[in-house]
Amino acid sequence: MVTGSSGSRRSPRNRRVAVSVLRVGHRPGRDPRLTTHLALAARAFGAERMLLHPPDPDLARRVAAVGEGWGGAFEVVGTPDWRRAVRAFDGPVVHLTMYGLPLAKVRPKLTRARSVLLVVGGAKVPPDLYRLATYNVAVGHQPHSEVAAVAVFLTQLFGVPGPGPWPGARRTVVPQARGKRVVGGRGTK
Ligand code: SAM
Repeated sequence: MVTGSSGSRRSPRNRRVAVSVLRVGHRPGRDPRLTTHLALAARAFGAERMLLHPPDPDLARRVAAVGEGWGGAFEVVGTPDWRRAVRAFDGPVVHLTMYGLPLAKVRPKLTRARSVLLVVGGAKVPPDLYRLATYNVAVGHQPHSEVAAVAVFLTQLFGVPGPGPWPGARRTVVPQARGKRVVGGRGTK
């Protein structure tokens, strides 16, 4: 069973919802860039992990390398059976789809949850996902992208994070009006 962990260990009043993102319908070798961007957006905007169906160990390693430099504990977990992961999840399962209920309507119910599983599809979405989800939620009702849907959802929940530093970071951005400044190491990845 997957539940939230580190982020939820706060006092009950300001406890933060632990969000896991489940990416269904990844095509290893065909769209590594899109799923990598999905993982990076999920990580940057406050999710704790991404469950990836089907598993893609190369992608998981690349995302882990980003965390080694920039900090945090985000991980990509290979998930051979996404239905099982959905059924076993201990918390509301939110399927992001343009056909769902408006995010503003569902969001108040989610802030009280301990952990939330956010599910996004790829080129095709398995029809039973609509039934298995606790909530089908739209981020606007026009077609766009799983990366945009996750990013907007998380910023609606948590806001936009500041520059950091993140726990365990070797590198941190120092915001500049122009140019780039990074403290604590070399590289921008
Ligand atoms: N043709 C797919 C379908 O049957 O829904 C749409 C695929 S879309 C390129 C990929 C994913 O982006 C969707 O499964 C959904 O998770 C997310 N998405 C796209 N537009 C969305 C919206 N307006 N609201 C919420 N999620 C959206």
